[in-house]
Amino acid sequence: MRIILLGAPGSGKGTQAKLLVERYKVPQVSTGDLLRAAVKAGTALGKQAKAAMDAGQLVSDDVVLGMIEERLTQPDAKSGFILDGFPRNIPQAQELDAKLAWLGRPLQIALLVAVDNDILIKRLTGRRTCSSCGQMYNIHFATPKIQGRCDKCGGSLMQRSDDNESTIRKRLEVYESETAPLVAYYKAQGKLRRVHGMDEVDEIFSHICDMVDAEIRPLQVKGVEAQPVVAAVTSPTATAKTAKKKKKKATKTTKKKPKKAAKKKAKKKAAKKKAAKKKVTKKKATKKKAAKKKKVKKKATRKKAVKKKKTKKKVKKKAKKKVAKKKKTKKKATKKKAAKKKKVKKKKAKKKKRR
Ligand code: AMP
Repeated sequence: MRIILLGAPGSGKGTQAKLLVERYKVPQVSTGDLLRAAVKAGTALGKQAKAAMDAGQLVSDDVVLGMIEERLTQPDAKSGFILDGFPRNIPQAQELDAKLAWLGRPLQIALLVAVDNDILIKRLTGRRTCSSCGQMYNIHFATPKIQGRCDKCGGSLMQRSDDNESTIRKRLEVYESETAPLVAYYKAQGKLRRVHGMDEVDEIFSHICDMVDAEIRPLQVKGVEAQPVVAAVTSPTATAKTAKKKKKKATKTTKKKPKKAAKKKAKKKAAKKKAAKKKVTKKKATKKKAAKKKKVKKKATRKKAVKKKKTKKKVKKKAKKKVAKKKKTKKKATKKKAAKKKKVKKKKAKKKKRR
């Protein structure tokens, strides 16, 4: 499940995101929460973001994109995510699309929680959050049982530093100029869905669940990726009706035939994958064998050449030795002959003298 929640500050995206987390067991990724945590921890990133947040402006795209990339690659986001407060402008949306496309996990639905501006201001000024569990309250609409205390955990309720009237007005202005164009962006992709954000929290949640169950869950159960979604739903009743119709249709399509077909398709795919894998392994083995053969041949040739060289050298040495020996013998013989000749000559001279 990969969805984003679009809507102005105070539209109730965070509340719906928390309910969705509980029901579908996928993490809520809120850039606002991540930034607030960084500010609280006093990190370099937090220090960089604080000024923009206090002024109701957007934090720089670089900071937010780096943070999101890191968060979405964590193991718990493998099963999906609910993006809350991100993307906030077209460049962020484009970056997100590119990253998800690269991961082969495109966005499935962009859900707009639509609320009128005057209600937004009342909601934001009255908003209180539990400092320990994050549960949200509103002093105008959803008051806690004990003032200033969380019903769930008893933690103290806090007001966000940027929930004051002047910052709220600035945030709403920024929403109109930077974030609202995303509605057209996702509509063009066929991914936009709307819910009426002024209904009761439970009612809104029920509409959202109808949509998710009809459009995303059946595809996940079948193991098929989400196809581009069709029409945008405008009113809550229409949303519920369309979602129910789609749910019926989806349930029908998952019955017998498609199930069989899907199984067959999956089997065929697996066989194809196996064959491809086998081919690759075989190719690899042949390549390895050829390389080995080449190596052995090269080694043998080199060895042979060295041996030949050695033998040649040996023969040459032997021949040299033979010549030297021959020379020596000849010299010796000549010397011997000369000595003999001298001796004979001496003898002859002696004989002559005696006579
Ligand atoms: P939120 O809690 O979503 O209302 O965000 C609170 C503040 O955090 C905003 O007013 C911005 O200053 C900053 N912020 C949150 N998300 C983003 C984002 N995606 N891009 C830029 N700034 C953001």
